[in-house]
Amino acid sequence: MSTFGTLTRGQFPSILTETHASPMTQPFWDAAKEDRLVAPKCASCGTFRLPPSPYCFVCRQRDVEWVELPGTGAIYSFTVVRHPLHPDLADACPYVSGVVELDGTQGAGARMLVNIIGCDPDTVKIGDRVAITWEHVNDEMSTPRFRPIPA
Ligand SMILES: [Zn+2]
Repeated sequence: MSTFGTLTRGQFPSILTETHASPMTQPFWDAAKEDRLVAPKCASCGTFRLPPSPYCFVCRQRDVEWVELPGTGAIYSFTVVRHPLHPDLADACPYVSGVVELDGTQGAGARMLVNIIGCDPDTVKIGDRVAITWEHVNDEMSTPRFRPIPA
């Protein structure tokens, strides 16, 4: 067993066991515990602000409404990590780290940087359809990952 626990090839370990949430991010983590994906949407202009930000980067207003999303999307960009960031992460490599453009949203404020699991690092490609899956780290925290939707 490594410093990071038992590793699964293709899956970056959950190194966080607490959310370290702030009032600005707490709604995301509360929904995550219930396997729901929510994102903050500017109450003024409708721009999604993920990760949450104190001000809208389009209209500079502060108010947000939290919107539940379907948890599906398409790979916008990705990289395959073949060299472990730490020697104890060798058994997790290769794994895919990607940016997913979320369904039910639009624009740069509606993408998530996540580990994409259950895919072949040699054939994964931009545009592949993916769906969220929640890893229940403990009773207080779930963390999102995405996996391919079978064609
Ligand atoms: Zn706005």
